[in-house]
Amino acid sequence: MSAAPSQPPASALARSVTSLFGVGPERAALLGHLGVHTIEDLLLHRPHRYEDRQNLLKIGELQLREPASTHGTIVALGTKWYRHHSKSIFEIILEDGTGRLHCRWWNLPYMEKYFSKGNEVLVFGKPLLLKPRTIDHPETEVLEGGEENFIHLNRITPIYPLTEGLGQRWLRALIWHTLQAFEAKIQDPWPPELMVPPASGLALPSRSQAIRHTHFPEKSDQIEPARKRLALDEFVELQNQIQARRKNFELKAQGLACGGDNRLIKPFLKYLEFKLTPSQTKVLREIRNDMSSPHPMRRLLQGDVGSGKTVVAACTALMALESGFNVALMAPTEILAEQHFSTFSNWFKPLEIAVMLRTGGQKSPETRREAAEDTPGKYSSGMQSPSSAVHPIITIGTHALIHSGFNPEKLGLVIIDEQHRFGVIQREQLLRKGYYPHLLVMTATPIPRTLGLTLYGDLDVSVIDQLPPGRGQVRTFVRTADRLPKVWEFLRSKLSEGRQAYVVYPHVEENGQLGIKAVTGEFENLQRLLAPFRVGILHGRLRPQEKEQVMTQFRAQKLQVLLATSIIEVGVDVANASVMLIENAEQFGLAQLHQLRGRIGRGAHESFCILVGGAKTKAAQQRLRALEETTDGFRIAEADLKLRGPGELLGQQQSGMPRFRFGDLVNDLTLINEARQIAKGII
Ligand code: ADP
Ligand code: MG
Repeated sequence: MSAAPSQPPASALARSVTSLFGVGPERAALLGHLGVHTIEDLLLHRPHRYEDRQNLLKIGELQLREPASTHGTIVALGTKWYRHHSKSIFEIILEDGTGRLHCRWWNLPYMEKYFSKGNEVLVFGKPLLLKPRTIDHPETEVLEGGEENFIHLNRITPIYPLTEGLGQRWLRALIWHTLQAFEAKIQDPWPPELMVPPASGLALPSRSQAIRHTHFPEKSDQIEPARKRLALDEFVELQNQIQARRKNFELKAQGLACGGDNRLIKPFLKYLEFKLTPSQTKVLREIRNDMSSPHPMRRLLQGDVGSGKTVVAACTALMALESGFNVALMAPTEILAEQHFSTFSNWFKPLEIAVMLRTGGQKSPETRREAAEDTPGKYSSGMQSPSSAVHPIITIGTHALIHSGFNPEKLGLVIIDEQHRFGVIQREQLLRKGYYPHLLVMTATPIPRTLGLTLYGDLDVSVIDQLPPGRGQVRTFVRTADRLPKVWEFLRSKLSEGRQAYVVYPHVEENGQLGIKAVTGEFENLQRLLAPFRVGILHGRLRPQEKEQVMTQFRAQKLQVLLATSIIEVGVDVANASVMLIENAEQFGLAQLHQLRGRIGRGAHESFCILVGGAKTKAAQQRLRALEETTDGFRIAEADLKLRGPGELLGQQQSGMPRFRFGDLVNDLTLINEARQIAKGII
């Protein structure tokens, strides 16, 4: 999915850049490095900054440490070498009648080839000295005779991102001429009357004006409205796709009647060991509405780690089961699938509902069943098919559910846990096992609203915004590696009190990255360090049985410490575990660390998360402090979005994330909302 080019471009704009004068295959390839393939791409190539060359200063007017543009003629140049030819300064000296300016480049002797005596040179930089006037490492452009200098001078000049082999002036001239030739062909992609009155109160320019102002603004205050306009076009295009898909879906799809009759939910809630929080109840009401509506449910359930999404999933499943439909629940890891399997088996056993587990690969799917054993006669024995026409069942599994072997009849509901681990395609594959079943996707990654509206615009959102009562607090501490002995001492003291702990390292195996710890490398070390307490190891390369065995032992408190990779990030739920030590914490994203620490603080005990970063990484240390300061998943996700961008926040699975040239997912919430309105108007 790509947000650009916008709308059906007038075909002229869709032509390859090779149709432009002066662009052969070689330059086209270089432009390709910049993501510029068509004429429209070129017109949307965004300057990364502007230089105000309307008021070029005379050299004599330059002020100390004030960034400025000036120009002059080269009167002398040369390279000085020193320290046995290991260091150099290349210098040019410019004259303009008011004074001389020294421009210096350290250790870049090849700069020499770009300049000759007599060249007229434009300079942008910050004078470091006034006697003599000196700028180090300025940005420069050599003005060449016969060139159209009006493109480059006496204006607010765009400075473009470049790639090796493309010159700034060449690209600027190319864009200038292309704009001259094609400006008239740039159309607004949607009717201007749909433009909602902007929240800012500032009317936005037309698309064609916006493109001109992006490249060659007459005034600097034209630049931001132009960006907004082009960002809005990007957002509208995406919202348009999302809403069209949704509309099309609503036309085609009839909702299965899965509202239920409370026959199962009532007893379930009665013997459940806790009471639902008001927030869980509110969400269930929204879900029940969907499940009995004329359209299939498409709902995202968002709730911080530990907020109790699983029980909501269980109630939702019961609605479908009550209505005579089968249910599939997909989890991203085997550990999590196993855990859901045992939770649901416990919960559903008294209700005499069969729970099936399906994990493993396509060739040898492993299926297990629970509960049905207790009710012989009701189910045919040795049942392989995870569906039953008579008594609806729930099948829990990993992506093994997507494979061809799983063919449920009457699939009424699909639940996907930890949605961000799966792509949209996998979601669709599972849905296609039924005929427009209801869909509930759950995620603990709090998705900032900007991202939610762009990524999940086709889903309705429910939020559990309240943690179950009686939770121990998780207190988070950031420590440097030299404090580790104290940290271990603390951890041992908690183990002595009967608590359990997780120790998390970034990698499974050492991979040569200096100082980054791996679980296999540290296992023996840790066993020795923590004896007589028993340590287990858990990572993605273990076989499923091995993983399950370790988890079983840990749950049964036969192991006190679990040494693991971030594999435990999703869903693992052991209430007695109250300490988590994460080493090389700087290797993880903030949202991921927040997920990880969500594994503790699940019981009544006060819990401790200790983040240990490398001693040398001051900035990383600073970043980690955000986790000390807040336990609000949304604030952490926003911080992560700002620091690392949407790709990192959501993981690789979401690499289908649209790229915006002008839109800014961190700050453009207002525009995104406007885009939604406009897209509604279009449809
Ligand atoms: P998550 O939203 O991270 O998936 P879980 O569903 O795993 O959270 O719930 C975390 C723990 O909280 C589980 O042990 C669950 O049984 C418990 N829990 C859920 N809802 C409540 C509640 N209303 N009151 C008390 N405990 C609850
Ligand atoms: Mg969960």
